[in-house]
Amino acid sequence: MMDKIVLASGNAGKVREINHLLNSHGVSVVPQTEFDIPEAVEDGLSFVENAIKKARHAAKLTGLPAIADDSGIEVDALNKAPGIYSARYSGEDANDEKNNAKMLSALSGVQEENRTARYQCVMVFMRNENDPTPIIAQGSLEGRILTEAKGSGGFGYDPIFWLPEQQCAAAELSLDEKNKISHRAKALNSLVRQMQDQHII
Ligand code: IMP
Repeated sequence: MMDKIVLASGNAGKVREINHLLNSHGVSVVPQTEFDIPEAVEDGLSFVENAIKKARHAAKLTGLPAIADDSGIEVDALNKAPGIYSARYSGEDANDEKNNAKMLSALSGVQEENRTARYQCVMVFMRNENDPTPIIAQGSLEGRILTEAKGSGGFGYDPIFWLPEQQCAAAELSLDEKNKISHRAKALNSLVRQMQDQHII
């Protein structure tokens, strides 16, 4: 049994969700923020490349096995933008509020049926910085971009992300409800299954 895994994320919202899920599998993770190490450079051209960069960086600087995720939102009417650039959509000084405002204005005038979007998440586990076979898992969650923000939970694009099955915005779900359906939960559950199959946990 592996005692400690570093979680290569500084995003408090994501750390909360991932910790919650992994704890239910009996795995405890230490967020990379507890090690006071700089953020990895995310210059990959895919979620997979960025997740591996983050995990390798954390494993290298802590000497521990690492889990990292890379995620984002794809909007069909924007040719799947912002994708891997979701966190920085509104520029250098981007934050959730500015990103959501930019998204709403980019889609102004776009009809409901053309506002389809999905969250994507890739999750990787690396045994060490030189691991030649990282474990890779993926998950997605389909939704639609609203015309105005709704709800105060979650983070990122959640206030403007409508879930047709749940009939509410992602920001209107509790953490438990979101963890049952989220792209991150799907990726993480698949990652955990693969780690169990390989007797890592
Ligand atoms: P990352 O931290 O580089 O993976 O960037 C992920 C970005 O995608 C976040 O900063 C959000 O803008 C967006 N994102 C990813 N997952 C979610 C989610 O569950 N809800 C809302 N936004 C998300």
